[in-house]
Amino acid sequence: MNQKPQLPPHVLIFPLPLPGPVNSMLKLAELLCLAGLHITFVVTEHIHGRLLRYANIQSRFECYPGFQLKTIPDGLPEDDPRSRGKFAVLFDSLKSKGKLIFKDMLTSGCLSHQKRKPVSFIIADGCLGFTCDAANEVGIPIVYVRTVSPCCLWVFFCLPRLIEAGEIPFNGDDLDTLIKGVPGMESFLRRRDLPSFCRSGDPHDESMRLYKTEGQENSRAYGLIVNTFEDLDGPILSHMRTVCPNIYTIGPLHAHHKNKLAEQAASLPPTSNSVWSVDRSCMTWLDSQPSKSVIYVSFGSIATLTKGQLMEFWHGLVNSGVRFLWVIRPDSVTGEDWESQVPAEVREDTRQRGYIVGWAPQEEVLAHFAVGGFLTHNGWNSTIESIHAGVPMICWPYFLDQQVNSRFVSEVWKVGLDMKDTCDRATIEKMVRDLMVVRNEEFSGRAEEMAQLARTCLNEGGSSYCNLERLVRDIESMTQ
Ligand code: UDP
Repeated sequence: MNQKPQLPPHVLIFPLPLPGPVNSMLKLAELLCLAGLHITFVVTEHIHGRLLRYANIQSRFECYPGFQLKTIPDGLPEDDPRSRGKFAVLFDSLKSKGKLIFKDMLTSGCLSHQKRKPVSFIIADGCLGFTCDAANEVGIPIVYVRTVSPCCLWVFFCLPRLIEAGEIPFNGDDLDTLIKGVPGMESFLRRRDLPSFCRSGDPHDESMRLYKTEGQENSRAYGLIVNTFEDLDGPILSHMRTVCPNIYTIGPLHAHHKNKLAEQAASLPPTSNSVWSVDRSCMTWLDSQPSKSVIYVSFGSIATLTKGQLMEFWHGLVNSGVRFLWVIRPDSVTGEDWESQVPAEVREDTRQRGYIVGWAPQEEVLAHFAVGGFLTHNGWNSTIESIHAGVPMICWPYFLDQQVNSRFVSEVWKVGLDMKDTCDRATIEKMVRDLMVVRNEEFSGRAEEMAQLARTCLNEGGSSYCNLERLVRDIESMTQ
């Protein structure tokens, strides 16, 4: 008798509709494709447009017949900027418009056909609580993924008790006051290290409401996937496991992804974290610089600077005498027009010691022999990419998890300096010199130790390697 071949489990992945989380989740999707699972990747129509334009999505995934991309409306007008601190609006809109459409996707049969089972497992961003409601209603197991750092996630989990104890919100004063209500961080977490929305003084602040609720939501799912590794975040993870016992630490995700690609299919097309088109000319420039002589400067895909701040960074960098590679995105500087916002002296006059691009191949930049430091906004991807590359950091956090991350970089992992809440040329000059020259040995040595741990956890038998295997096994066993 002819037996039909067993079809693999079909996993639906739904990332937060922001460039950073989407890039991370695409890597997770590819890891699961490589493990033989079928994937439906759901993005908002707005993100879909960007993926087609910059991320090479079609050719990147065409070698995985089990992968499909589907879209869902986010309910906002096409010309809405969908960022710049308006996340609560985006989430609320997605929640009110998305839940029914999402549930319909799961039940209508539109995602399956002869060669693809119906969706049997969901991996969704933990901020999208409505996905858990829908999953429970239709009886499909769900695991959450969070793309922010565990240290910040633990702060989010503790927001209700901080509010109850009257530790937050505060009005921006006495920022060095220690915060006592986050177990494991009592000795070093200050007001200034909390997500910036805690400073509003407003107990009804939209972001606070959102992150408080979503933090509480996370324990509803069967498990939680985070982009870290046990040797980096062990102490915080053990606190988090009191609330969410089943945590899959599979990071550093970008390197895990790269390793698996190398292991299984060296000829696959190169992947990128593109939000803008990548300017690779900086790699040629880096090739001609001495070893560890360049500080890489980038504030990620969302953070903006005022023209005044841009000029402080410019003078600080130039006055430090250290070579720099600086990413200034077309929309980095607040105001309409890049040409007039970024003065000619910054744009043009840098070829000797500095180089400016609109978007860099960051993972490659951090791995380049010429790069010895990273002036960063401490987005979680940038932070963990830097840790994996063994590059020490200067931290200039912008918002959300970045304030906590920068405290961990300087006080817990001791792989850099934190300049949060300052932006003057003298401080920038001094910190750049300290990191790259005066205390370079100390920071580079420590960063290299952390990098070794980050690499080891991805080797066969390492914690992240095993946790990814466990995730795949769990998906398989829960979908039989
Ligand atoms: N990135 C990049 N080129 C750049 C700047 C950033 O490829 O010029 C990538 C970086 O490698 C990281 C992501 O963009 O993966 C930024 O994510 P992060 O979480 O650090 O910050 P966000 O953009 O979410 O604020």
